[in-house]
Amino acid sequence: RIYLDHAAAMPVRPEVLSFGMGFSDGFAGNPSTLCREGLVAQEVLATAREKVAALVGASAPDSIIFTGGATESNNIAVRGTALRNRKAGNRIVVSAIEHISVLNPAKYLQKSGFSLTPAPVDRYGVIDLDALGAAVTPETVVTSVHYANNEIGTVEPIREVAAIVHDRGGLLHVDATDAAGRIPIDVERDGIDLLTLSGNQLGGPQGAGALYIRPGVRVQPVLVGGGQERGLRPGTEDVVGIACMGEAARLAKEEMPEESRRLAAIRDRLIAGITGLEEAYLTGHPTERLPHHASFRFSRIEGESIQLAMDLLGIAVATGSACTSRTLEASHVLLAIGLAHEEAHGSMIATFGRGNSVEEVPRIVGAVEETVKRLRAITPL
Ligand code: PLP
Repeated sequence: RIYLDHAAAMPVRPEVLSFGMGFSDGFAGNPSTLCREGLVAQEVLATAREKVAALVGASAPDSIIFTGGATESNNIAVRGTALRNRKAGNRIVVSAIEHISVLNPAKYLQKSGFSLTPAPVDRYGVIDLDALGAAVTPETVVTSVHYANNEIGTVEPIREVAAIVHDRGGLLHVDATDAAGRIPIDVERDGIDLLTLSGNQLGGPQGAGALYIRPGVRVQPVLVGGGQERGLRPGTEDVVGIACMGEAARLAKEEMPEESRRLAAIRDRLIAGITGLEEAYLTGHPTERLPHHASFRFSRIEGESIQLAMDLLGIAVATGSACTSRTLEASHVLLAIGLAHEEAHGSMIATFGRGNSVEEVPRIVGAVEETVKRLRAITPL
């Protein structure tokens, strides 16, 4: 079987798994208690914080808070920051192709009186900087633009975005779920005020995430309860999951240059093979894209049929975002880059990881060719 759905779920890295198994020997500390076991758990969190901070160039480890995943981080970043800074203005701006875990908190804020402006992207999914400049005003408290898109792989010009946002006195939140560990991120260099990270996308277990908050940025909690994670994410931390996320971040930082080159070679071979097929097109940017990401659309067929047919051929691919694929709605990302509804329905996404190799590419291209031909022969479109 060939697994090409890493953007939906990454297999936990064996090194991370054995690191996590180190906690199986009666480890039971709660980081909020003062007994020795609690202090050990606090140390475990502190080490993980250092490793995650190092991955994204954050000089103060305390600027990282741990959460239950990217959705939680995005909610705290968008809602928590907008609500806490409401006195400075009641406008928010988000790019039109953000993940729903950013778009829905933004819509929630709209219902409570914020004005929401979506920032458009071009046909490759790159944010339109002129339009962003017009959308962000001195009353815009938070602007959210992801580092890279999970459906089309496009990497955004974050430094330019940060310059525009800061010029108008606002805060920039960046969802780096898919970019972290794959391309270099430096919150200082890039001018990022809040940064979302997912533990699983680094090769750790699902259910742990992090949010970088630049020191001095004021945020209010979205969930209320105890004082864990500076009160911003109350509830006992998933200590082992977070420790594993930290270890995954350390490994990702160490191995990123070489692994990203290896993945980009697979990506480029696959793109060359598939775009050589009839009526098959790349989606997203041809060069400014994540190294592990290749995405396509095929005319006159449905992405779900491609996904199921490929699955029967032993290859796991995606169509649209895993979080919205059950709704059968056209992807808001593909519509925002200008595709018609019928074009947006025929998408296929392949995202690679450590288990993949360039030798698999001919089999993948062959399977896509066979699938597309067969589906087109029976399509009523
Ligand atoms: N943000 C982006 C860009 C994503 O791709 C995803 C999920 O794939 C999320 C946020 C949400 O992640 P989670 O479901 O782990 O909370």
